[in-house]
Amino acid sequence: MARKDLIAGNWKMNATHLEAIQMVQKLGYRLDPGDYDRVDVVVCPPFTALRSVQTVIETDYLRIQLGAQNVFWEPQGAFTGEISAPMLAKLGVKWVVVGHSERRHIFGEDDAMVARKLRAVLANGMTPIVAVGETLEQREAEITEEVIGGQLQGALQGLDAGTVGALVIAYEPVWAIGTGRTASNEQAAEAIGFLRRLVGEGWGEAAAEMVRILYGGSVTPGNIAGLMAKRDIDGALVGGASLDPDKFASIVRYWV
Ligand code: PEP
Repeated sequence: MARKDLIAGNWKMNATHLEAIQMVQKLGYRLDPGDYDRVDVVVCPPFTALRSVQTVIETDYLRIQLGAQNVFWEPQGAFTGEISAPMLAKLGVKWVVVGHSERRHIFGEDDAMVARKLRAVLANGMTPIVAVGETLEQREAEITEEVIGGQLQGALQGLDAGTVGALVIAYEPVWAIGTGRTASNEQAAEAIGFLRRLVGEGWGEAAAEMVRILYGGSVTPGNIAGLMAKRDIDGALVGGASLDPDKFASIVRYWV
């Protein structure tokens, strides 16, 4: 069975809820109904804009799907400043990014924390987008596979094959995020091929064939088509370029 493309925009800590309303409306105008049959289109606004974006999606009958950039693993309680998975699910969030490199490197999240978040997302009926990626030093030390393999196994261990097949993995080399330096199509395909083989070894061929693996790191309208031409690359997690609805729509419509 062919895997459906998925293109997700990670708005990071950008856009007030008023700006976010305009951004999602503009994006909606720029996409055709047929685009959604081909690609799952996801936007991940900051928490403060989720409700507004969800309302626009609903009232304008858009088929854009709502994602969140992060989550805390406990369902409720004395965790000042955190947002739980039930809170996100209630807002219509379908996708949650876990393990983004900015969370790992700026906020000190480790594999065990990523695993707990991932389980909270699954337990609340949403789909995790699990981000993994090596730093430049790790790539230069030729330990990319060890690093991304370790992150993947750390997040996924103990899950059954059906669950693993249904989730989304994002390979995001840290040196390519927000730097304008994209991995070559071959580097991206090689790392993603490795992650798919790892899923095959751990959870079986059916899960490996089913799981969607995205590339992330300075994706633009200019480089998306080359990346998508690689068999193993099922879509993209887009940061900077997703803030511009024109650019993001061109990335979604990469074949045009
Ligand atoms: C990201 O934040 O996941 C990302 C890939 O950012 P950018 O596209 O800006 O490199």
